[in-house]
Formats: sequence, C-alpha cells, structure tokens
Amino acid sequence: MIKEFEVLTKERYELINITNKVERIVRESKVRDGLCFVFAPHSTAGIVLTEDESGLKNDWLAVLKKMVSGFDFFHNRIDNNADSHILSGLIGQEKTLVIENNKLIRGTWQNIFLIEFDGPRTRKVIVKT
Ligand code: ZN
Repeated sequence: MIKEFEVLTKERYELINITNKVERIVRESKVRDGLCFVFAPHSTAGIVLTEDESGLKNDWLAVLKKMVSGFDFFHNRIDNNADSHILSGLIGQEKTLVIENNKLIRGTWQNIFLIEFDGPRTRKVIVKT
C-alpha cells in the first residue's frame, strides 16, 4: 500500500512531528509484519528520527545552520537555497522502520520528523507499507 499526506511548514527551517500521521497509515494498512518506508519527495527537506523536545529541536536547527554557514554557494547565483539542498541530502529524504503486529518498532524517544530547510512550503510525505 502507498499513501501520502501533506505538511504545511511555517518557517524556513523547522522540525515537524509526523509520527501520528505515519502510525495511522500503518494501522489502516493492516500490515502485520513488514516494513514502513517514509519518504519526502523533496530536495530541500528531510526525514529524521529524534526526540520531540523543544530545546532539542532548536539544537538541531542551530547545528544544521552552522554546518552550512560561511559558504559562498554557486547554486545561490540561480536559486537562493544551496544550504537547503545540502542539508536535505546530508540528513536524507527517507527512513525505513519495521512493522511488527501492525505497529512500528521505535524507541521511546524516537519520533518521526519532517525537517524543513526551505519553508514555508506545502510538503508531501509518502508512506509505503
Ligand atoms: Zn535550489
């Protein structure tokens, strides 16, 4: 089964918890045991597993912004978002989780986030089970 949903982002850089939406799709898929592939079909956003804590979310964004600061990016001559493309590629645009008894196996603090690097935008998330 393949399903998708939209996420409206509000900031240029932002972490948005999509765990509930992905888990609902897994439940509705009726898949007992298998894999859940979560994919953002975008080159300026990513998917990350991390704790949903406001300080940590700010920490993520501070580290990522610093990683791409101080460069004179060639891409910015035609489109002002080289930082967004590079972070998207580094973070990755997909994650695969295991489904057991129709539930995702994940650690207590492992939430699934869409990470926006070039918002605000309407983003798509594709979930394949
Ligand atoms: Zn671009």
